[in-house]
Amino acid sequence: MKRKRSEKLWKRALRVFPGGVNSPVRAFKSVGGDPVFINRGKGTHIVDADGNKYLDFLSSWGPLILGHAPRKVVKATRRAALKGSTFGAVTEAEVKLGEFITESLPFVEKVRFVSSGTEAVMTALRLARGITQRPMVIKFEGCYHGHNDALLARAGSGLLTLSGNIAESSSPGVPDDIVRNTLVLPLDDSAALDAAIKNFGKQIACAIIEPLPANAGLLPQRKAYIEYLVTLCRSHNILVIFDEVISGFRLGFGGYTGREQIFPDIITYGKIIGGGLPVGAIAGSQKVMDHLAPQGPVYQAGTLSGNPLAMTAGLAALEQLAGRRGATYRYLESLGVQLETAFQNGISPLFAGRDWQIRLVRDASLFWLSFHNAGETAPVRQVTQIVPFAATIYARIFHAMLDRGFYLAPSAYEVGFLNAAMKPRHIEAFVAALKKVIAELPD
Ligand code: PLP
Repeated sequence: MKRKRSEKLWKRALRVFPGGVNSPVRAFKSVGGDPVFINRGKGTHIVDADGNKYLDFLSSWGPLILGHAPRKVVKATRRAALKGSTFGAVTEAEVKLGEFITESLPFVEKVRFVSSGTEAVMTALRLARGITQRPMVIKFEGCYHGHNDALLARAGSGLLTLSGNIAESSSPGVPDDIVRNTLVLPLDDSAALDAAIKNFGKQIACAIIEPLPANAGLLPQRKAYIEYLVTLCRSHNILVIFDEVISGFRLGFGGYTGREQIFPDIITYGKIIGGGLPVGAIAGSQKVMDHLAPQGPVYQAGTLSGNPLAMTAGLAALEQLAGRRGATYRYLESLGVQLETAFQNGISPLFAGRDWQIRLVRDASLFWLSFHNAGETAPVRQVTQIVPFAATIYARIFHAMLDRGFYLAPSAYEVGFLNAAMKPRHIEAFVAALKKVIAELPD
């Protein structure tokens, strides 16, 4: 595959952007090599600057559940653009999307639109702290919630005690002081949760979790654990935030909350809700949401919040997803089952006699290649259970697949996304290519 134009663009990008990018993971640092510049996308495929075509399993990290440039979304957005892109005033487009969401999701009474998932989470934390008048937040190791200062935190090495793990900053620029009020707990560990709440309960405003963690591999949690978290927090007046920026509108229209019928106090959305344009949202009961300004005292604002183009794209995408009694989600599930079965039959046998193996972890249209030592069968539920050799082998798989025309996430810790434009033949082609690539790897 020739990538001359991509190479030239990369040199130019390196001159104008730190590390050549506007979001770090695009730089291919964890798989090595130079990134490929994408020129366009349609349906299942993206095309790079040199005209090479790839079957896309990244979906722009999740928003594109309908594939690239879906006809109805493009048409509606184009029509909206012709009417002007932003007014800094209230518009019908935002009301329509707000109504559609609150009418479709019984657990959402009010919503506030912002421009990214990060912003949604930032507001959710402020809202929780504002309501409870408490400073501390619980986050879980391996969950990602955008680049919010308070959550760019890892478990503090010297401070691990049964009483919870006060965090230390995980990025220069975030002073330890900022994360002093963050408790970092392991996932799937009720005892750690008990201890943290026992010791700090009255100071904790909220616990934020990706109920289906999908940012350090795909780490499905036991439903009983998520239920326990919600019940325990509720009994201590700690608000629960489900960060559904990835899982919202993906595990089904109602996301994790709707599917599992476990109800947090606040939900954050992003990605799919904007139909491929920049949107985030904070959602909850009227009682909770009315604490936001100007109804309540908790401040939040945004020049491009509720942007009419983004609202229009979001509405077009959500209408399509909700339509035909959820047929799109049933179709995506059938693709997921096909992928799982083909993996099981075609790829799993390749690991017989090897020291390592890959298992496919899947939930709805999300999947992850999970690396293990031979013979290990336990599901991975905590980030520390991911084997270190995953990154090295994944890097080889990633490049070999890219050269064969399959675009996967450029990191072993990231998930893959199926989209509704895909056909069974795309899944077949993917598994056939992956099979060849893995067969060529050393034992
Ligand atoms: N929350 C979750 C669960 C995410 O996966 C992400 C981004 O990947 C974010 C929040 C941040 O969203 P954004 O990148 O739109 O700021």
